[in-house]
Amino acid sequence: MGHTVENAKFGVNSHHGRVREGSIMMGTGWIKWGTWMAVVLRGLLGAVCAAEAKSPNIVWMFSDDHAYQAIGAYGGRLAKENLTPHIDRIAREGMVFDRAYVANSICAPSRATLLTGKHSHLNGKHTNGGKFNHDQQQFQKILQKSGYQTAMIGKIHLAGMMQGFDYWEVLPGQGQYVNPRFITEQGQTQYKGHSTDVITDRALKWLETGLDSSKPFMLMVHYKAAHRRWTPAERFVKPFSTRTFAEPENLFDDYSGRGPAALNQKMTIARHMSIGADLKAGKRPERRAYLEGKEREGDEMTRWKYQAYMQDYLACVAGIDENVGRILKYLEDQGLDKNTVVLYSSDQGFYLGEHGWFDKRFMYEESFRTPLLARWPGIIKPGSRNDDLVQNIDFAETFLDMAGAPIPADMQGKSLVPLLRGKTPADWRSSLYYHYYEGGGHGVQRHEGVTTKRYKLIRFYSKSDETWELYDLKRDPGEMASVHDNPEYEMIRETLHKELAALKNTYGVPSP
Ligand code: CA
Repeated sequence: MGHTVENAKFGVNSHHGRVREGSIMMGTGWIKWGTWMAVVLRGLLGAVCAAEAKSPNIVWMFSDDHAYQAIGAYGGRLAKENLTPHIDRIAREGMVFDRAYVANSICAPSRATLLTGKHSHLNGKHTNGGKFNHDQQQFQKILQKSGYQTAMIGKIHLAGMMQGFDYWEVLPGQGQYVNPRFITEQGQTQYKGHSTDVITDRALKWLETGLDSSKPFMLMVHYKAAHRRWTPAERFVKPFSTRTFAEPENLFDDYSGRGPAALNQKMTIARHMSIGADLKAGKRPERRAYLEGKEREGDEMTRWKYQAYMQDYLACVAGIDENVGRILKYLEDQGLDKNTVVLYSSDQGFYLGEHGWFDKRFMYEESFRTPLLARWPGIIKPGSRNDDLVQNIDFAETFLDMAGAPIPADMQGKSLVPLLRGKTPADWRSSLYYHYYEGGGHGVQRHEGVTTKRYKLIRFYSKSDETWELYDLKRDPGEMASVHDNPEYEMIRETLHKELAALKNTYGVPSP
């Protein structure tokens, strides 16, 4: 271990300004009790349990806007299409999280949360536009100090020089789908090809030539796909151009069961998806031919746009999956698979026509949830599923826990390692906090809320007003009708209002 206990004492957690139980002061700051005990135990038992204690490598494959509805292992209407055989293999050989959520459903804030293990109001990255302070504490810096070799390749969407990585090569901003440029410490590079293939090429290159065999490694392979404007690699275009995909039941949602936020957004397939830029009709002869002389509105046109959208989006997903397969194969061929944790996840979910939408941001399930699958030979029981409430604030602590590294007390998540072992702690959380700050993008109003396994309370707000929505996910999994003002839900509503206030207090969310 790279850390020694210094000034061991209990005290006040500097951030929340109140006593935080189970924290202890160490070289790098406040460390959670369990971690301190683990450090001591590892020291005592190190010689006895050398094999068990060997720190695993971690390969974290990640994509942008990858809806769980587009992964076979999650079931649903697209599962029969067999779009993701390699990601599904991670499910078969590992664990699928059915209730994995994000803290703020948009690209850059999501990534800031991943690196810091903190909600947006603490890591300072509230919106895509705001600056990210790279000098702050991030899990990879701690991993590195704990003896891990760290690498980040692909999309991170946080302007500025990365810190805590032995090797990094990242797309500038959103990055380009084709012939992508990368930023490195040495300057810019550019590679020919589709970004999904190139990011994998660069990751495999690093595994081949960059590894320090005396250290465990953490490799982040983060794809740009399947972000708008959904541009698949050329080899997927034709095979997908003739496929048709099942529609969601609520493709023609009229938003009558909810407040104004759902009605006033600007992310409908019917009215806001562009036939030219989004669906590239000018470059696709078959699409151009279909549109010849047709009215560009009405239900039939919406159905056609949905199919074109799915063809491009799912072809991007197929490209990601193929590349996940390349990485899995490489690990196997090199004998690295046995001591490597493989994870697959995305920065948030996405609408694939549900509520008539594309895009994200809302606290409704499809964009609030995100895929999360993990394989860890010898630790995770193959083919297992977990339905505990987990959130992207948990990643940082999970990686540190896997590595046996110290976990700072001001991180706001929980390690998923016990869950991966199939042993959810009895006091695991029963609710999650969410906050979307940006406002403006796709006309989605700012909102925050709380969800339990069954109920979800959302507060949409502006400077002058607020509206509340409440959903019973068991009776209404599609979130078609708010029951906030239904007298039958009075008790639930009051409980959730209190829970939201309690979570904001726990996480130190500033009052508006
Ligand atoms: Ca995203």
